[in-house]
Amino acid sequence: MREPLRDGHGRPIGDVRVSVTDRCNFRCQYCMPAEGLPWLERDGVLRFEEIARLVALLASMGVHDVRLTGGEPLVRRDFPHLVALLAATPGVHDLAITTNGYLLERDAAALVAAGANRFNVSIDSLQRDRFFEMTRRDALPQVLRGLEALAAFPQAHPIKLNAVAVRGFTEQELPAFVAFARAHPYEVRFIEFMPLDGDHAWRPEQVLTGAELRAAIDALQPLEPAPREPHATARVFRFADGRGSVGFINPVSEPFCGDCNRIRLTADGRLRTCLFSLHETDLRGPLRAGASDDKLEQIVRDAVWRKELKHRVNEPGFVQPARTMSAIGG
Ligand code: SAM
Ligand code: SF4
Repeated sequence: MREPLRDGHGRPIGDVRVSVTDRCNFRCQYCMPAEGLPWLERDGVLRFEEIARLVALLASMGVHDVRLTGGEPLVRRDFPHLVALLAATPGVHDLAITTNGYLLERDAAALVAAGANRFNVSIDSLQRDRFFEMTRRDALPQVLRGLEALAAFPQAHPIKLNAVAVRGFTEQELPAFVAFARAHPYEVRFIEFMPLDGDHAWRPEQVLTGAELRAAIDALQPLEPAPREPHATARVFRFADGRGSVGFINPVSEPFCGDCNRIRLTADGRLRTCLFSLHETDLRGPLRAGASDDKLEQIVRDAVWRKELKHRVNEPGFVQPARTMSAIGG
């Protein structure tokens, strides 16, 4: 074991989000341009053994929670093999996957068997035409089949569904999401739209806040607060009659930076200390040049020490990072 990883503001770092690919089979409006993005060269993407080495190093510094994301992680060939490698890594206590669900019907069994123990499935609409409008793929039936395939495994629960809340779109989805959250054992969570879209078209007016959503849902079906877990980004509310719950992730209207315990590793091996970081630290170069674990540890510690105190989305002069959410790993 190594010294626990801490940033320069005294925050312990316990969570890493690993983007396993920048590629995706969807083109969600709030994430990627319709025509896609210039993908990374295959050689530039970390190999599974390289990811496993970096995760093992981080885990030895107390980074026990690992979430695999992208791009769409399930489009990476042999992805369950990576899951198995990481599940067997000492110090990794929690292994989560964020997916758009499109390939879950094919892969759910393999991912559960490989040791993934938490799943977030992104669904922005429960109406086929509106799902198509938002993701630019006519894929809702396939995603729902994937979700069902996953839900068949008790080890995969509790399953969380993520919907990005965009003003002018998500309001009309609420009755269907409320009914869905009450009929199934899934926690539906609404994430405020952040300025990480591929088109760089985000405007503050498009953010439908968690408070607005909560009030609208409460009017449909009364809610009551559920206890808050440490480092949880979502504020969870139960339906007052005991059937189901919903969560709100409010990074724009109620930033949770003070409590942030996360870092991110991009598919090309850069360490990012904030979603909105304007600089990154290259780990792939030193790794491939033969750096020892001690040397890599030093590079990681130096970068993490400079972790941003908070994001500046709500401040004048905010600069959107060049990378989109899909290229960072949301
Ligand atoms: N492709 C997978 C998926 O969609 O679940 C994993 C990667 S995706 C970038 C991770 C999460 O980020 C998804 O839940 C997605 O909805 C969310 N996301 C993408 N762009 C966003 C944005 N601009 N603001 C807020 N959330 C965003
Ligand atoms: Fe792909 Fe996920 Fe981005 Fe949608 S949110 S384009 S599914 S990476």
